[in-house]
Amino acid sequence: MEKAEIGLIGLGVMGSNLALNIAEKGHPVAVFNRTTSRTGEFFEAAGNLREMIVPCTTLQDLAASIRPPRAIIIMVAAGQAVDEQIAALRSVLSDGDIVIDAGNANFRDTIRRFSELKDSGLTFIGMGVSGGEEGARHGPSIMVGGPRDAYARVEKVLTDISAKYEGEPCAAWLGPDGAGHFVKTIHNGIEYADMQMIAEIYGVLRDGLGMQPKEIGAVFDEWNKGRLNSYLIEITGKVLAADDPQTGKPMVDMILDRAGQKGTGKWSAIEAQTLGVSATAIEAAVSARILSSLKDERLAAEKAYAISDLPKFSGDRQAILRDLELALFAGKIAAYAQGFAVMDAASKQFDWRLPMPTIAKIWRAGCIIRSQFLGTLAEAFQQSGTLPNLLMAPAFIDMMKEAHPSLRRILARAAEAGLPMPAMSSALAYFDSYRQGRGTSNLIQAQRDFFGAHGFERIDAKGAFHGPWGDSG
Ligand code: NAP
Repeated sequence: MEKAEIGLIGLGVMGSNLALNIAEKGHPVAVFNRTTSRTGEFFEAAGNLREMIVPCTTLQDLAASIRPPRAIIIMVAAGQAVDEQIAALRSVLSDGDIVIDAGNANFRDTIRRFSELKDSGLTFIGMGVSGGEEGARHGPSIMVGGPRDAYARVEKVLTDISAKYEGEPCAAWLGPDGAGHFVKTIHNGIEYADMQMIAEIYGVLRDGLGMQPKEIGAVFDEWNKGRLNSYLIEITGKVLAADDPQTGKPMVDMILDRAGQKGTGKWSAIEAQTLGVSATAIEAAVSARILSSLKDERLAAEKAYAISDLPKFSGDRQAILRDLELALFAGKIAAYAQGFAVMDAASKQFDWRLPMPTIAKIWRAGCIIRSQFLGTLAEAFQQSGTLPNLLMAPAFIDMMKEAHPSLRRILARAAEAGLPMPAMSSALAYFDSYRQGRGTSNLIQAQRDFFGAHGFERIDAKGAFHGPWGDSG
């Protein structure tokens, strides 16, 4: 074979599927994995695609197998492993070569790596990839950050392997240095909120209405035909329909209610706070996973509080189901408004000029949060240009006006029934705070001035003022 067009390091779940995807799209790829036996196994299992793959056992071998100027994708565990790989590559690569970190990096690490490599002759690209194993194999959503001219050199491969939405590739250059990894982080933060809100609705169906997993799955299947149509709703229906091969019971009932996390949700919440943006639904989703991990404490608290006389969900089941669907939709709108507000703030802070309509577009297929809703969102951005908040897009005002009464009804009943809905409650509180022209922080300002002489602004005059608190502060 002629030399490979691109290299890939890391043949784990994501890397091996990405390599097969690259080969299948007609781009010869040279691959390397730290554990060399894995490289051999991968190559053996590649079938017909073997003729497009060059297995390499050393990094020297890898570099020699790629046509210069080279481009190499690193798809290894995030963190130190990436730094180690970059350091090792420096001795085998040449000026003009491109190193692409495609793992879930913290964007601050990406910015650091970008500046560390700036004068090395190598170019660095930070690339977020979403879609899990299946996406990596058949078409992920790809979010690229780095020098635009470097992206141009790998654009053909990346757009070829990406998911397509009505023929449009779900891969794009989003801005310099950490832009791609930041957008991927917020994608995951939104994913946390989406998943948590779906789980909260499942909780109402299971514990409020006493429905069985398969019945609940059928509800999600039905919703997947409407405004909530999305990958996460689709797989929720499938998950709830599955039985445990060992016991024959519904699989979901046999799974411990303790959710894991790898960090991108937490990073989203931290960055939102650092940027001074309210992202309460995302924060609540991260926090809910933390609380879920306290299984023993929760069991003890359930006994200690043994509340048995709370009112159940009752009444017209069809009306409740309609409300649940709209409530989930309202929560989703608020969560996406928050995620996009965080990206907007980061874009300004880091001077990235993130293209919001493009981000919405490349999330329409391939990634975990892909949905019909993202199409609506992309259109809203295209029609409205810059928006202070998604909640101010005319289409979203109409959708939220229709959906928020259902969110209120569901949350009121869930509160009475003792069913926790942290992300959805946060979403409603965010919406109500955002749409309240006269809030209550006048009192907070008065308190701050009382105890700390922090001063306040008046509604009827410019400048800083103090209150008539005397010497009692
Ligand atoms: P994985 O299946 O656990 O594979 C990890 C890979 O990293 C293996 O090839 C491993 O090589 C390599 N590696 C680990 N430590 C290394 C080191 N110190 N030096 C060199 N190589 C090292 O992980 P994965 O799921 O493919 O994830 C890879 C990246 O993609 C991560 O950043 C992850 O967050 C991100 N990601 C994952 C998903 C997903 O759904 N799984 C989705 C999007 C993004 P050995 O075989 O030698 O151990």
